[in-house]
Amino acid sequence: MNRDLTQKIKQHASRIGFFACGISRAEPMVVESGRLKKWVAEGLHGDMHYLASNPDKRANPRQVLEHARSVISLLYNYYPRQTLPKENNLYIARFVYGKDYHILIKEKLNDLIAAMKHWIPGTIAIGFADAAPVMEKALAQRAGLGWIGKNMLLIHPERGSYFFIGEIITTLELEYDQPHTDQCGSCRRCLEACPTGALTGPYRLDARKCITYLTDIYKGELPDGLRTSFESRIYGCDACQEACPFNRLAVPHNDPDLLPTQKLKEMNRDRWENLTEGEFQELFEHSAVKRISYPMFRRNIDFVGGK
Ligand code: SF4
Ligand code: SF4
Repeated sequence: MNRDLTQKIKQHASRIGFFACGISRAEPMVVESGRLKKWVAEGLHGDMHYLASNPDKRANPRQVLEHARSVISLLYNYYPRQTLPKENNLYIARFVYGKDYHILIKEKLNDLIAAMKHWIPGTIAIGFADAAPVMEKALAQRAGLGWIGKNMLLIHPERGSYFFIGEIITTLELEYDQPHTDQCGSCRRCLEACPTGALTGPYRLDARKCITYLTDIYKGELPDGLRTSFESRIYGCDACQEACPFNRLAVPHNDPDLLPTQKLKEMNRDRWENLTEGEFQELFEHSAVKRISYPMFRRNIDFVGGK
């Protein structure tokens, strides 16, 4: 029964576009919780206070859903066939080229949850897409989908790291996958490629220096000492992914929802620098970028422009 149901879940996940699906027991993650506490104690999490509050809950899916037995981890490819033009332009990371991934992934998780409830009435399940109060990369590693690399991203052995992670915590008893082992070996390419030195050592990210954190989450004044390292990046940074040899295996997605709009493709340095609030709202109407609001986006543009 568990095996058949697990197969049905994995087949349905594949049908709706997830390229990988793995399942782990909904048990506390003691080692990972210890690492999180140490990271927070060193202040490396910056202003992400939600990570500091209740680390034990983040490390225990049963504190998110009582009587949970399983966590289904799912990966959704966002690797684009083409990058946006780089010449005479400012830089937007690949993960926000298309529709807001929180919404896109949540819709797909809801589709899978509906199927599970149809197959097994009485199933309780909750889906999360980059909003989970749980440690989603650690859960995905435990579900056999890859390992947390020295750049602190989940690396899939055959696809690299350009994907969104979703998870479903459920009361269903399923068949479990084996955790994945680390395959970084002696490689240090991501550490060498990080423009700001945010990767202060293997598996050690100082979020306060990370361009993705600074442009997407941090609300204060950007650190002047990092200005030149930002180069033209105004939202996100792909440097530690571009450097990773496993991303040579990435294959382009075929989801029209993740393609950049014509307007985004036509942006150039001059248009970014003169972007008004109205244009920002229109340009990012369906994008996750809209979540950070115009003043913060304006701050990013002005920062790389030397203002
Ligand atoms: S996203 Fe950019 S700044 Fe952040 S760790 Fe990776 S390379 Fe460094
Ligand atoms: S670049 Fe090398 S060290 Fe960094 S995550 Fe990829 S394989 Fe691991």
